[in-house]
Amino acid sequence: MKAVRVHEPGGPEALRYEEVPTPEPGPGEVRVRLEACGVNFIDVYHRKGLYPRQTPFVLGQEGAGRVDAVGEGVEEFSEGDYVAFASAPGGAYAEYAVVPADRLVPVNVTLVEARVAAAAMLQGMTAHYLTHSTFPLEEGHVALAHAAAGGVGLLLIQMAKMRGATIIGTAGTPEKARLAREAGADEVILYTERDFVEETRRITGGQGVHVVYDSVGRATFEGGLDVLRLRGYMVLFGQSSGPVPPVDLQILNQKGGLFVTRPSLAHYTATREELLWRAESVLSWIGNNTLKVRIGGTYPLAEAARAHADLEGRRTTGKLLLIP
Ligand code: NDP
Repeated sequence: MKAVRVHEPGGPEALRYEEVPTPEPGPGEVRVRLEACGVNFIDVYHRKGLYPRQTPFVLGQEGAGRVDAVGEGVEEFSEGDYVAFASAPGGAYAEYAVVPADRLVPVNVTLVEARVAAAAMLQGMTAHYLTHSTFPLEEGHVALAHAAAGGVGLLLIQMAKMRGATIIGTAGTPEKARLAREAGADEVILYTERDFVEETRRITGGQGVHVVYDSVGRATFEGGLDVLRLRGYMVLFGQSSGPVPPVDLQILNQKGGLFVTRPSLAHYTATREELLWRAESVLSWIGNNTLKVRIGGTYPLAEAARAHADLEGRRTTGKLLLIP
């Protein structure tokens, strides 16, 4: 099969589109013939070696398609079923992916197309756990979310509104700000032109926000602590601008008894029950039009490097997909 592999960590040029053996499903595993593979910022960290892995490896962890073969002991799925997933240990930028059956989610393609399911799994479940579990938003809460027009960002804005919260977004360009507003953001700060700390304070009448959802990391973390109200929550869940340097914990005391957490999707989909709760919530909202998924770019699998260059170059909005 064709797949995109990394042999040496590096820039987008480190992605090699090449022929590799088609993987066989082992016991408890399922092989999926992919209709679309999701591109996520974590793939950039893996490509660059920020999260080191043994090379060579097939990049990617998200996708959707049809079950093509099942391993011993798999009863829940059979050939031809439509499925989606957000974790494929053997990689997902490929024509086929092998996934543990207990990480697969059934997809009703009459309600949600396979491509849309591929676009919604990882970022959708992330927005779900952030807004429903890490800091469960309620009416009366005021939240700040960075990179609001990104893949996670647009979904997070919509879910925050579903929970009845007020949400302020940040965005890098006026076009991105428009998309974040369309998704439901109450206010959007163009943080490439304005100081988001001052703007957030102004918007909240000096009160600050209950929670900051920060996926940008190095460039925004410190400012984020300054816009939290007393006992506010800093939810650091990414590092698109680079890792946050070590922090003196005393600062949390000085700034008002703040909380900081650094969660991952794996922590919030640890059991099958939790995985299905989040995935099925996301898919059902898409199916009944409560949640909109913006596919901001579709690339042939062979052009994964171009998708990476666009994502890292801050040129994208919503979700990027690769089509094998
Ligand atoms: P996005 O679509 O959000 O793309 C990244 C965005 O970050 C850019 O479009 C840009 O938006 C913003 N950004 C700010 N500074 C930079 C920079 N220096 N370089 C590149 N981008 C920058 O990506 P995803 O939705 O895939 O992921 C968003 C973040 O969430 C990532 O950090 C990712 O690692 C994290 N994540 C974490 C998960 C978890 O469970 N912990 C799960 C899923 C994602 P703008 O131009 O508007 O600033």
